[in-house]
Amino acid sequence: MTKSHAVTVQFDDTLLTLNRAVGVLRRRNIAVTQLAVQGGRMTFILNTDAATADRVVQQFRKMAGVRSVDITTTLDEGAVMSSPQVRVFYDADADLARLKGRVIAVIGYGSQGHAHALNLRESGARVIVGLRESGKSWLRAKDEGLDVRSVAEAARAADIIMMLVPDQDGRAVYEAGVAPSLRAGKTLLFAHGFNVHFKEIVPPADVDVAMIAPKSPGHLVRSEFQAGRGVPGLVAVHQDASGQALANALAYAAGIGCTRAGVLETTFREETETDLFGEQAVLCGGVTALVQAGFETLTTAGYAPEIAYFECLHELKLIVDLMYRGGMKFMRYSISDTAEYGDYTRGPRIVTEQVKAEMQKLLREIQSGAFAREWIAENRGGAHRFAEYRRGAADHPIEKVGAKLRAMMPWTEEGKAQAPRGKAPAKEAVRATL
Ligand code: NAP
Ligand code: MG
Repeated sequence: MTKSHAVTVQFDDTLLTLNRAVGVLRRRNIAVTQLAVQGGRMTFILNTDAATADRVVQQFRKMAGVRSVDITTTLDEGAVMSSPQVRVFYDADADLARLKGRVIAVIGYGSQGHAHALNLRESGARVIVGLRESGKSWLRAKDEGLDVRSVAEAARAADIIMMLVPDQDGRAVYEAGVAPSLRAGKTLLFAHGFNVHFKEIVPPADVDVAMIAPKSPGHLVRSEFQAGRGVPGLVAVHQDASGQALANALAYAAGIGCTRAGVLETTFREETETDLFGEQAVLCGGVTALVQAGFETLTTAGYAPEIAYFECLHELKLIVDLMYRGGMKFMRYSISDTAEYGDYTRGPRIVTEQVKAEMQKLLREIQSGAFAREWIAENRGGAHRFAEYRRGAADHPIEKVGAKLRAMMPWTEEGKAQAPRGKAPAKEAVRATL
């Protein structure tokens, strides 16, 4: 069936590569529309069947000088799977020189903060880290030779202020340390839209407010940058007082390496709502509830908890790794036909229409702000229920048997603790991106 496929090819900006790329399209004689070439980027729409589009993409990917190929396919007329209108920015779209002569305050030095501060410094920016003197991060940042000051001092000295403290502390840190020194011409940045979208933080109208959200944990933001690459990110502009908010945000994204991989344009609302939905319905809430229910079903039926642990939790990683590498098709290609048949016929009996209706309910609670209000109130009240959930979860039999089994695996937390000279993992190395 003929569909529209929007393709973006990033290549080394040479005539030879461009010539080769155009040659691929000419030789295949497929209907190509909206062809555009700018710098090292070529975009076009392929009107052909999925298999042919796939072959074209594969051919581009193998071509010397091609750095990346993205493809999005329209489902049917008008409805797009991943809108080809989504703008993606790369190095060529960002002007690092915009950071020259400007001071960047990175507030927080945790998972994201340490990566942003160090990457920006190596990109030639002047960085001040804003922290509380009593915290653990203070000395860590000092040890790296960074200019570390109180949040208020860092914010005062800076032109660009990036908020990288935990989201539930964002408002208090902002009000006490950042807000007093916000002036026209300054830029306030976030790596997650929660506080701005839910109006916990309402910056003055004369400052630029934007988001650069790396789609990866901080340690990867750092290690990819050091390897000369970068992790993909999102960019959004909430408030453009200067008319330069997007350009400045992209310069920051370049400074931490994200434009090397690609930065997708979004909005504070879209990033916040999809992020919360993903972690609640699928990545954290959905997956842990599914794993636990599977484990309980097997152990209640009399199977050994050790075996249930392997089947329902341990092996999940193998499946996730395969999906991460090549999507569901690639994963299904790697598993047995029996597993694949069970997947198609039984999966929908677990995630039923009722489950999907509940997902929609979660989404509505996120969109209406009900979830945000609940979470903010929980924190204001001392987070007692939250602590209780943590204790309850830690007591579940799956955690007990898991700890015992992982002690047999040297690469896990418990396994490393067993090893005589095993090094404790850095906190960042085990953080999730959520
Ligand atoms: P984190 O690892 O928990 O680090 C928080 C940092 O903030 C620590 O350095 C902490 O220092 C500091 N801090 C806490 N309270 C403070 C206060 N009152 N005054 C000054 N500093 C304070 O946080 P994170 O995971 O990097 O998250 C930061 C932001 O990035 C969040 O908006 C999050 O949504 C976003 N994000 C995170 C990830 C990720 O992978 N983690 C990915 C994308 C976006 P102390 O040592 O003093 O406690
Ligand atoms: Mg999240």
